[in-house]
Amino acid sequence: MQAQEYVNRSLKELIGGKTAAALSKSFGIETAGELLNHYPRRYAERGQLTSFDRIEIGKPVTIMATISAVTARRMKTKRGFVLVVAVTDGKEQMELTFFNQKWREKELRVGRSGLFAGTVNEYHGARTLTHPQYQLFGSGDSSDLEAFTDFAGSIIPVYPSSQAITSWQIAAAVDVVLASLDELPDPIPLELRVKHGLMDRSQAIRAIHQPDSHEDIERAQFRLKYQEAFVLQAVLEYRRQERRTMSAIARQSKKHVLRESFDQSLPFDLTDGQIKVGEEIELDLRGTSPMMRLLQGDVGSGKTIVALRAMLEVVESGGQAALLAPTEVLAAQHFESLTALLGGLSDSGTDYVSPSESSRISESREGLDPKVRITLLTGSLTLPARKQALLDIASGSSHIVVGTHALIQDHVDFFDLGFVVVDEQHRFGVEQRAALMSKGRQEARPHLLVMTATPIPRTTALTVFGDLDISTLHEAPSMRAPVDTYVVSPQANPTHAARVWERMQEEVAAGNRVFIVCASISETAGDLDQDQDPGHLYSQGESRDHIVSVEQSLAELAQRYPAITFAGLHGKMKPEEKRAVMKSFRSNGAGAIDVLVATTVIEVGVDIPEATMMIIHNAERFGISQLHQLRGRIGRGNKPGLCILMQDRFVNPVAQQRLEVVASTRDGFELAQRDLELRGEGDVLGLEQSGAATSLRLLRVIEDLALIESVRQEVGALAHTDQWSQTIAAIELAEFIRVDQLEKT
Ligand code: ADP
Ligand code: MG
Repeated sequence: MQAQEYVNRSLKELIGGKTAAALSKSFGIETAGELLNHYPRRYAERGQLTSFDRIEIGKPVTIMATISAVTARRMKTKRGFVLVVAVTDGKEQMELTFFNQKWREKELRVGRSGLFAGTVNEYHGARTLTHPQYQLFGSGDSSDLEAFTDFAGSIIPVYPSSQAITSWQIAAAVDVVLASLDELPDPIPLELRVKHGLMDRSQAIRAIHQPDSHEDIERAQFRLKYQEAFVLQAVLEYRRQERRTMSAIARQSKKHVLRESFDQSLPFDLTDGQIKVGEEIELDLRGTSPMMRLLQGDVGSGKTIVALRAMLEVVESGGQAALLAPTEVLAAQHFESLTALLGGLSDSGTDYVSPSESSRISESREGLDPKVRITLLTGSLTLPARKQALLDIASGSSHIVVGTHALIQDHVDFFDLGFVVVDEQHRFGVEQRAALMSKGRQEARPHLLVMTATPIPRTTALTVFGDLDISTLHEAPSMRAPVDTYVVSPQANPTHAARVWERMQEEVAAGNRVFIVCASISETAGDLDQDQDPGHLYSQGESRDHIVSVEQSLAELAQRYPAITFAGLHGKMKPEEKRAVMKSFRSNGAGAIDVLVATTVIEVGVDIPEATMMIIHNAERFGISQLHQLRGRIGRGNKPGLCILMQDRFVNPVAQQRLEVVASTRDGFELAQRDLELRGEGDVLGLEQSGAATSLRLLRVIEDLALIESVRQEVGALAHTDQWSQTIAAIELAEFIRVDQLEKT
């Protein structure tokens, strides 16, 4: 039988129903291959007892111990015997308790050693395993044991186990599977194996389960880790190549009339970063395969302008561009800020020209700058307005369309959609990316630029986003003003809190704007803002009465400070209400809003230079990146900013750490890295997010960064050789995946 067929064999046939059922129930392991991928968690050395030091009550354990005392006595209250077996790690004692199993006395004799597994409980202050499963060392016991001692060398694998199946039962099952295993196909090309002195795959699989030495374990683990990095990078490389085989229309303006007049109209010079990234994007736009680029830059780094310059190139070349925002409020704001940025280049609404006309004009009539028409398409348009907008989009008289992500799901017809810009990557999943690529015509996929203000640490860039090209804006031209951040606990320190409110008054008196951010809209339990991503809110599993809501805050403040104009903003308001509020908050006129009390709908894209202070209630409920983005709304002008992270009465230590991290730096990359460390990588490589079905068992994206980087380079080199298709085929065979589907077949 071919090795790969064998690996797909059901365990039920191979090792028997009972064990197979336990493996399936506990770990979802169904096939021989899956069992072989269930690596030991650690290794015990025969004769080296497990230290009881770190054994925790309530946790399942597998320990190696020696029996130090055995007592059997009649139970006092009930009929029957209790057998108490004391075991030792050489220093401390633990008890094993068996009820009505007096016969075990025969085998559980003082001086014998073995493995014992069960869940630790505490009984009269002593750590106890009740009815543990066990395997004793030495001869003359059950045949099970003989099988066990047979394969178990001096190093004993300890597997992740469960109530239903012990570590050594797993080891025994693995032994059966390994016994009839042929050579496994190896996804790593021989050349690389030789270069790195890697074990081959079958060797490694055997060694990780049944090592002869510690060196064996290390070599096997490295080889398998390398394999994970290799397969992941090869899959990502494959996807990049696939994308290159898709076609898109090259969007290249001949004269750059629009972009150049736009640049000239700006009241400032572009930063070097903006120019460089602009060139990277234009180069992609000139290609005949769709761009898929991630533009990362901290809040205020000037991404919008970069995107707009690229859109103008596309428009001038005769195509349309779309800008997608995560919420309607943000779409409306983008619409307004793009219109404002374009100034005289923007069409006032009457004498627009179609894209085809515009390119003809810019080609034939030197110097004449065609007007750019921007259309806002959101759910809140009136029916006639919506019809008109759809018509403009379909006819091509609209050049730039601004909307929410619904734009790509709602079957909007474009005349010639050439370029899509998505603001805020983290709300835009792989699935939506796919939907987008199916927009446009088969032979003309749109170019895609995804913008994120959450800096992507190198680790994530190489894995989760490994199929995208990445551009980075490092400077933040609009963030020269310093922002101080403090954590304030109103309950613990009312004086600090009082000072916060004084500061708010001072800011308002100085003509500045203040944001107050709340985690919920009203007191009603669960009244979270639907427009804010609930995934970003940390629930602390406590009652919600400590949550300061928009409504509560608004009512209290308005009463306390009648001279100040407050207004609320949240996702339950009508879009036109929201827009009116934002407009009044932005304006300087009489009656303008001084303090905006809002949910996180203000998170991104809001650009108000006069905003100098932000107070975030229940900051412990927000994630690091979200706090960072919220804070990015202030300090955008030239006045220094102040950010107050209000912390609830009860704060768990991790939440506390998050706040301290946010207070300690404004460097987005550093925050992203710290965030990654605090959250752990389970989150980083969420399957759905990474789209990589090849699960990582040994590879750690944080610790193994250097390995991942070097493997990526090797894969890149390999992709240009004639061995590439062979390599992909070998990966598909070895991993049971179709690399184009990224799903297990
Ligand atoms: P982001 O979208 O990356 O958060 P924006 O594009 O909204 O940043 O830019 C933030 C602010 O900085 C805006 O007011 C913008 O006009 C301004 N800005 C952009 N580029 C520059 C620059 N090169 N010099 C000065 N200000 C800039
Ligand atoms: Mg922005």
